[in-house]
Amino acid sequence: MRKPLIAGNWKMFKTPAESIAFLNEFLPLITGHERDEVLLFPTITSLAAVLQATAGTTVHAGAQNMHWLDEGPYTGETSPVMLAAIGCGHVLIGHSEQRLYFGETDERVNLKLKAAIHHNLTPIVCVGEHLAQREAGHTETVLRIQLRAALRDISSHLTQNLVIAYEPVWAIGTGKTATPEIAAEAHTILRHELAQCCDPAVAQRTRILYGGSVKPDNIASLMAQPDIDGALVGGASLIPASFAALVHYS
Ligand code: PEP
Repeated sequence: MRKPLIAGNWKMFKTPAESIAFLNEFLPLITGHERDEVLLFPTITSLAAVLQATAGTTVHAGAQNMHWLDEGPYTGETSPVMLAAIGCGHVLIGHSEQRLYFGETDERVNLKLKAAIHHNLTPIVCVGEHLAQREAGHTETVLRIQLRAALRDISSHLTQNLVIAYEPVWAIGTGKTATPEIAAEAHTILRHELAQCCDPAVAQRTRILYGGSVKPDNIASLMAQPDIDGALVGGASLIPASFAALVHYS
């Protein structure tokens, strides 16, 4: 019922030419693959080129971030209207690197999620605890607060396309993947929270991805967990063969 989604977050890597070189190698490696949805988040300067090069394929592309307003005097920002205008249908919201280095807040995540819904962009909303929060036993509280804040004042019927990514901050770019059991426990908490703050149908249909040092050799054990519906992959999505191996997990 929940089609698995394997998403690659290229962070601040790859020029347009490098992005196209990636696709020239990657697309043939996944031709005919239908089990999973495949999504890439290139940098904003590569997004139009990636959208063009993937048109007519099964691969989608989205933006790594956006502002919540349609337009305005906000230097350096990109609006949902601008994303939609180039045919972009997906957006990453609240990535921990945005939260950590650029002051992203739960309140802004909520505004961006509302804007994404309004403009018909599929939102991938990231939540996750820091190591100190986990060690203090606060993981469940942190996840519930982040998810509830992201969904504040959003009616359940507007969350049809919502995707959540559980990304423990201590696992991102560190090589320390959460064990399948730790990830599964967090996903169960998030699904319970979706049932409570939206309704059980939303909890059932919403895909929850795991992100944090996912590699070709650990994805299968994560995907074997019933509440893990896909992966959000940083480092290992930058190499065509590696990302293709992730898509072909078994
Ligand atoms: C990410 O960028 O969302 C991520 C999970 O990175 P990595 O796979 O490199 O840990």
